[in-house]
Amino acid sequence: MANPLYDTLFAPHEGKTKPFLLLPDGGEVSYTAYLDTAARLANTLRDAGLKPGDRVAVQVEKSPEALALYAAAVRSGVVFLPLNTAYTVEELSYFIEDSGAGLVVCDPARRELLAPVAARLGAGLETLSADGGGSLMERARRMPTRFETVDRGEDDLAALLYTSGTTGRSKGAMLTQRNLLSNALTLVEAWRFTEDDVLLHALPIFHTHGLFVATNVILAVGGSMIFLPKFDIDQIIANLPRATAMMGVPTFYTRLLDDPRLTRELVAHMRLFVSGSAPLLAETHRAFEERTGHRILERYGMTETNMNTSNPYDGERRAGTVGFPLPGVELKITDPETGEELPRGEIGQIEVRGPNVFMGYWNMPEKTKEELRENGFFITGDLGLIDEDGYVHIVGRNKDLIISGGYNIYPKEIEMVLDAQPGVKESAVVGVPHPDFGETVLAVIVPEKEGRPERAALEAAVRENLARFKHPREYIFLDELPRNTMGKVQKNVLREKYRDLFT
Ligand code: ATP
Ligand code: MG
Repeated sequence: MANPLYDTLFAPHEGKTKPFLLLPDGGEVSYTAYLDTAARLANTLRDAGLKPGDRVAVQVEKSPEALALYAAAVRSGVVFLPLNTAYTVEELSYFIEDSGAGLVVCDPARRELLAPVAARLGAGLETLSADGGGSLMERARRMPTRFETVDRGEDDLAALLYTSGTTGRSKGAMLTQRNLLSNALTLVEAWRFTEDDVLLHALPIFHTHGLFVATNVILAVGGSMIFLPKFDIDQIIANLPRATAMMGVPTFYTRLLDDPRLTRELVAHMRLFVSGSAPLLAETHRAFEERTGHRILERYGMTETNMNTSNPYDGERRAGTVGFPLPGVELKITDPETGEELPRGEIGQIEVRGPNVFMGYWNMPEKTKEELRENGFFITGDLGLIDEDGYVHIVGRNKDLIISGGYNIYPKEIEMVLDAQPGVKESAVVGVPHPDFGETVLAVIVPEKEGRPERAALEAAVRENLARFKHPREYIFLDELPRNTMGKVQKNVLREKYRDLFT
């Protein structure tokens, strides 16, 4: 019998002394040690009464043990449900209840607050701290390192991953073994990973980027990861020399560029820099190439689908685009009204289909029906176009589209003009309520440290480049844009903050 995800990503490494995780303090975790911990944890999950298909909800700091819990869940057929460490106890309670988790693993600091919640919902509660302490590992240490892998099929759920909540309340995406496995193998090919790779891993492991994209790719080839607790510029600089590849969100790259220690020499040996989870400014792409000689490879994905498109490994990595659909992934641009496919070059909603596309939203049959078509295409909620060379461009989110006086306005078009002006570090354009137009355009500008731009200069640039109905009605200057842990700009926060500006 079989468990495809475990058999492909984990089992082949049993008994290997090779390091899987390289830790910042110089320590390392071999594949054997990692899988032994995972086996003990698999026994612990079973001992806690979890059966295949049950959920384990995990809100803990990033640690090798936390990552072993992922392997343990896969091996025992338990659905892995990692949760953002930023969630408050109140938010957590919602996720625990919504998912019907049988076991909750939390940081020791949260135990007391969560105990009543777990008790009320009939879930077990264990703790795991950043250094591997807590009740979970105490229990696990008493368990054997033998565990008979539970049979699973490719259509069985492997994980329940909540979306980032950028556009509203997070939704639980049901991901099967096939979803995860197919994408991992596709990315290995697309990005040429081998067992010689050492990936610099500074992403959180509660999100698809750090958990599935990064970790599964390394597991699939038996490579190693430099496992940093978080993005810390000194740690990144110190560890780049021993890495071959890095995956990051755009803010990793802007922070690296802000540091004079990022030089061509520092990264001359690197094979690959990947960016995703939020748009990488074309300017950042160019500045990084100028400074280091590396062209960042930008890709596009989401919790519900893993990765959909990628710029080519060989061939032109085009700034401001997310490249081509990955092998096995179909992508089309459709008219939001009719659902009909649009001709090349036209902006519409991005739909995708493939073995990577999730089964639906947990406990949300209505929402699932709205977004997942019967023919298998998933309506991503992103707007974009395919250019004449086949590159996919993301124009923004459907929910961020501004409709002013009956006109559709794509914030990105305006942001691109503003970003190009001297003194503008970045910008965010949102629609806010307006009595005459329904909505109107508001530009939020983050100035460079030196040389704040004059409003008149921005207005002039906008007049020169954009039709009148797209001109921002107001400009607001902020030191930084509100962002969530994945570096995504929270436009809903801006809309909320300035909702009464014109009313
Ligand atoms: P929610 O669905 O809860 O509102 P979210 O969509 O931000 O949150 P994720 O699944 O983490 O949650 O993020 C996926 C989204 O991130 C995509 O739909 C897209 O909008 C954005 N994204 C990912 N990669 C890129 C990229 N390279 N360029 C532009 N946007 C990207
Ligand atoms: Mg989303």
